[in-house]
Amino acid sequence: MSWVDSHCHLDHKAFADDLTHVLQQAMQAGIDTFIVPGTAFHAWEQQQTLEQKYPNIYLAYGIHPWFCDLHTEEHLEQLDDLLDDAVAVGECGLDLSPNKPDIKQQSYWFEAQLGLAAKHDLPVMIHSVQAHHLVTELLAKHSGLRGVIHGFAGNIQQAQAFIKLGFKIGIGTRLLKADTDKTKSLLSQLPLEHLLLETDAPDGLGKDARNEPKELIVVANIVAKLGGHSAEDVLNICSQHAKDLFKL
Ligand SMILES: [Zn+2]
Repeated sequence: MSWVDSHCHLDHKAFADDLTHVLQQAMQAGIDTFIVPGTAFHAWEQQQTLEQKYPNIYLAYGIHPWFCDLHTEEHLEQLDDLLDDAVAVGECGLDLSPNKPDIKQQSYWFEAQLGLAAKHDLPVMIHSVQAHHLVTELLAKHSGLRGVIHGFAGNIQQAQAFIKLGFKIGIGTRLLKADTDKTKSLLSQLPLEHLLLETDAPDGLGKDARNEPKELIVVANIVAKLGGHSAEDVLNICSQHAKDLFKL
């Protein structure tokens, strides 16, 4: 077993005290590869520390839409340099939920990072919340990219639009609290060949509980049940997709 958590924020302060233990527990469950996305310039150095300490942690670097207004052109140059040594660009994207930076500003930083993905020939890890139509438009404009729509919670038509543009669909613990009918209908129609599994730890379980990479098994069980597969197939196949996408 060599399963992949394709999106977990292990550099988050929630793991500052016991990350080694958290990773051991994940490995006991069969999850031994972890993709850690970047969110803002002030976390990039901490990500590098993790990569040096743990050989099975792989890094993406990016500017998350929530924090885009903290960045300057110099950060973009720094990001450009860091991407020489990364498996992906991200997480980046658009978020139209309340109290987020202005959408024009978000779009500027998202498109700048799509440009860097093309330049470095890297996949993109995309955050798309209440913004699937706009993200689809921008990906169509920057055609030829590849990547994953992480923590996907849209409908089958929206998923198919992303798949057409060359993107995988990242399925995570958001499913645990998602409306069952919608999730059921999505996963019964979405072929396994387009899916990646993730936890988005420490997020994904609601405000009070810390999510961990070992919960990837729970995600796989739900995907298996709703899609009519075995959990082991789901873990094997989706982990292989992550390895192919991130060239691990
Ligand atoms: Zn994330």
